[in-house]
Amino acid sequence: MQDFNKINQEILTFVKDRDWEKFHSPKNLSMALTVEASELLEIFQWQKENDFLDSKINDVIIKDTKDEVADIFYYLLRICQKMDINLEEAFWDKMKKNKIKYPVDDFKGKSTKY
Ligand SMILES: [Mg+2]
Repeated sequence: MQDFNKINQEILTFVKDRDWEKFHSPKNLSMALTVEASELLEIFQWQKENDFLDSKINDVIIKDTKDEVADIFYYLLRICQKMDINLEEAFWDKMKKNKIKYPVDDFKGKSTKY
């Protein structure tokens, strides 16, 4: 996946240029990822359920959401770099497990936990 490699390389260069490698332990990166996920949640904080119907999502909300999902993606990839995890492979392996854990016949239309 060439774009993925390009993104990974961009992150490595970004970190190296700023000499941030020394700060990027899996623990610190995991904490940063959680902060970014909270920033995503903050966009929707205090909104009523109906405030986020498709017709009410405006350009500012979309712009802010794009920024936060990009931050989350950055830290996710950075954790994978540090721990030598192939994210694409990890995704497909986990989807296999999820399909076993949540069979369609038992979970279709249900939000209950396994
Ligand atoms: Mg952010």
